Amino acid sequence: MEKPKKVKKPRGKASLIPNKCISCGARCQSACPAEAIEMTEKGEPVIDQAKCIGCQKCIKICPAEALEMFFTPEELEILKQLAAEKGAAGAEEEEEDSEEAKLKKFLAQYKGVWVFVEQTDCTPAKVSWELLGVGAQLASALNVELCAVVLGHNVEKLCQEAFSYGASKAYLIDDPLLHHYRTATYLEGFCSLVEKYKPEVVLMGATGLGRDLAGAVATRLGTGLTADCTGLGIDEKRQLLQTRPAFGGNIMATIFCEQRRPQMASVRPHVMPMPARNENATGVIIREAINMKEEDVLTKVLEVIDDAGHLDSVDIGGAEFIVSGGRGMMAKENFKILQELADELGGVVACSRSAVDAGWLPVERQVGQTGKTVRPKIYIACGISGAIQHLVGMQDSDLIIAINRDKEAPIFEVATFGVVGDLFQIVPAITEHIRQVKATRGTPKVC
Ligand code: FAD
Repeated sequence: MEKPKKVKKPRGKASLIPNKCISCGARCQSACPAEAIEMTEKGEPVIDQAKCIGCQKCIKICPAEALEMFFTPEELEILKQLAAEKGAAGAEEEEEDSEEAKLKKFLAQYKGVWVFVEQTDCTPAKVSWELLGVGAQLASALNVELCAVVLGHNVEKLCQEAFSYGASKAYLIDDPLLHHYRTATYLEGFCSLVEKYKPEVVLMGATGLGRDLAGAVATRLGTGLTADCTGLGIDEKRQLLQTRPAFGGNIMATIFCEQRRPQMASVRPHVMPMPARNENATGVIIREAINMKEEDVLTKVLEVIDDAGHLDSVDIGGAEFIVSGGRGMMAKENFKILQELADELGGVVACSRSAVDAGWLPVERQVGQTGKTVRPKIYIACGISGAIQHLVGMQDSDLIIAINRDKEAPIFEVATFGVVGDLFQIVPAITEHIRQVKATRGTPKVC
């Protein structure tokens, strides 16, 4: 008797659903192993049906669910027959083995939002608490715990600090080996915790130390890291949406890590607001040991040299009042009028990159994408046009006053108050007014 011919399961062809593509940057094209996708000028895919092998990779990677599989009526009929033959049990088995199911299982092992508590000699970096603030929002969206990770020597009190800023659990490795920061020891400590407890999200401050550790941890764990995020959120697939400036700051890109865990992001100091502090908050401390000995560490710390006073000692990042000048200041000596205003306000002088490039102020005073991020109570921008690279560094200030003689300057789009006019008249007039108010009513308070 002739053996019945096995019917081949049709694979279908990918096709675009009209009006759903968000022009994400040709992810479908890069995912296609058959080079079946070309992009239009608008950034939408055109699928060559003759080349498409029905692997569905483009469909899986599309963040907008704008692609679907197309089957001819004959193919649909075959699929129906095959499904009926196989029965429900068989279908389930197939589902279990599919790549998608494996990925789902892998992702489901990871739970919790972790914030690395950076410290030097048990003095915490404020950015850690800022990250606990945004971490709490992420944890609530994911319905998971917010945890702090404290590494160091004699640093247990930082766990309590972390509880007061919103963490409900702290993973602590307290060991003399971790007294001074060294990449190897912190990397070993941090990764051992991640491998054991499997967090879904890890946040670190984009400080010198944080940048070093985050990159090393992400590399060791083989996961993604988005540096210098300016916004963090969670989507409906539990993915961390990591927003940061891209292409020289001309666009804001939202990046996500679909297939690896944990999802790692770093955020610069002052980008996120400080959360409220609750002295009475409590939490659980999980103590772990580091699996390393001093002999295993190649780097030895011989001496720690404090750089305070060596560089520009003004911390514009922590200032509450900032008077900032740009190319409109015209010359270095003109910054004197900004210093006078800053002195009256008890603030500091900062600047745009143009002012640094012109040699008027040192780079430590630069605000923006390649400078510092600031979040003062008042930011007064004088002769600054408001390029996106500058705005990303100051747009979260509580109150922004812009002084510019060009009424079309983009700085006015983020300003709370805008003054169109010549800064050389306006700035001294404001300074004089404050002096008069102080003389008659005493020092005004800004809350
Ligand atoms: P301009 O854009 O030249 O603006 C000067 C303004 O002064 C004008 O709006 C003018 O109307 C006004 N003005 C002139 N005279 C007067 C007056 N008498 N009274 C009132 N107003 C007056 N920039 C940053 O600031 N920080 C960064 O970190 C940064 N990083 C960058 C990173 C990259 C990769 C790139 C490509 C650029 C970066 N830039 C950065 C540069 C940025 O694109 C702008 O060139 C810069 O911010 C412009 O500085 P500005 O506003 O001082 O100068």
